[in-house]
Amino acid sequence: MSRLGMHDVIVVGAGMVGAALALALARAGFDVAVIEPRAPKPWNAQDEIDLRVVALAPSSVDLFGRLDVWKQIAAARASAYRRMRVWDALAPGDLNFDAAEEGHAALGYIVENRLIQHTLWQALQREPRITMHSPGTVAATDATPDKRSLTLDDGSIAAAKLVIAADGADSALRGMAGIATSDRDYGQRAIVAHVATERAHDATAWQRFLPGATLAFLPLADGRSSIVWSVPDAESQRLLALDDATFCAELGAAFDFRLGRITATTPRASFPLRMKLAERYLAPRFALIGDAAHAVHPLAGQGVNLGLRDVDELCSTLTDARDTKRDFAAESVLRRYERRRRSDNVLSAHSFDAINRVFGSEAMPLAALRGAGMAVVDNIAPLKRAFARHAAGR
Ligand SMILES: Cc1cc2nc3c(=O)[nH]c(=O)nc-3n(C[C@H](O)[C@H](O)[C@H](O)COP(=O)(O)OP(=O)(O)OC[C@H]3O[C@@H](n4cnc5c(N)ncnc54)[C@H](O)[C@@H]3O)c2cc1C
Repeated sequence: MSRLGMHDVIVVGAGMVGAALALALARAGFDVAVIEPRAPKPWNAQDEIDLRVVALAPSSVDLFGRLDVWKQIAAARASAYRRMRVWDALAPGDLNFDAAEEGHAALGYIVENRLIQHTLWQALQREPRITMHSPGTVAATDATPDKRSLTLDDGSIAAAKLVIAADGADSALRGMAGIATSDRDYGQRAIVAHVATERAHDATAWQRFLPGATLAFLPLADGRSSIVWSVPDAESQRLLALDDATFCAELGAAFDFRLGRITATTPRASFPLRMKLAERYLAPRFALIGDAAHAVHPLAGQGVNLGLRDVDELCSTLTDARDTKRDFAAESVLRRYERRRRSDNVLSAHSFDAINRVFGSEAMPLAALRGAGMAVVDNIAPLKRAFARHAAGR
């Protein structure tokens, strides 16, 4: 049995959220270990744009700026979106957001997950206060009053004053720490692909609500758009089985031909959609973060943005406690993080859930509710500003 040493913090999982947290804590002066089963695939500029992309809100870009990785990400490949248009197949009007109206250069950026992970991973490896254990998987965990120990699958043992699970929606650590989740299976899948369109995307993120479905077009740096088409399971099987020409024709019609015809598509991939909310974020010497704490419907493109807001809050909670000579891993300290982030995450998750139900439904009472239309919201300036501010993480 080998001992991997004692650390201030161990972060389990180096996805976008775990890697950002480890970097933020190390930069704040904590001694951090990271355990991750798989190093991310390297990113190369000559590679095709990867199918998995995220819309980063300004709050996330701001965090990456402070971690000194944003310049590298932006220089590699990031696509600013300056406008957003949302409309509904069953009601009149569009909801329009414009960065210029908010006094900003962009509403956000579309970036490949793999580029973000690769850039953060490189930064982790340069950081003297970080010890990487990869490949490494946690097999068991145990807490005493002053530390938590992790046994890895090769039998080695690591320990820290605090262990943070950032191991994603199916978090094994969350189960080992005895934290339950409340789950909703949407019975939907998100189909993703990159498509070429007859007309330019105009640096605009587009979203259309359809009966039983939502469809987003996100502008890519090479002029194509990345689509996220969330549809019921059976419909996803049908759409995935279509030949490219028929798929493009159906996609164009579902998108109301806002960018003209769809002229080409990459192969498609799909992901099951569910909401999974941890009932609490804390256990002795243990906290949850990112999708391990809250997996949400992707219709608002906020999953990783919520996780990165967790990073900011958790990092400042731990730093404040340490700087005032308190035990940063005490449950009384961590409660501030849990209280502030759980309320935002749960509210966001239920808002996306409600939007999915109201706009995704063909049932009459809900169809009547949506009948008020986007035009109404678009014309109420304070309401619109509130939507925009929340999406931006301000
Ligand atoms: C179709 C789709 C579109 C989306 N679009 C957006 C968007 O536009 N904007 C947005 O903000 N969000 C979006 N999301 C959500 C976003 O992808 C997730 O919120 C985000 O990836 C979560 O990051 P994470 O680091 O918390 O978890 P993950 O990305 O799941 O990373 C978890 C990490 O933990 C590691 N791990 C797993 N098990 C273990 C273990 N046992 N031990 C150690 N490590 C482990 C994994 O290898 C991985 O590196 C979308 C999601 C989907 C499905």
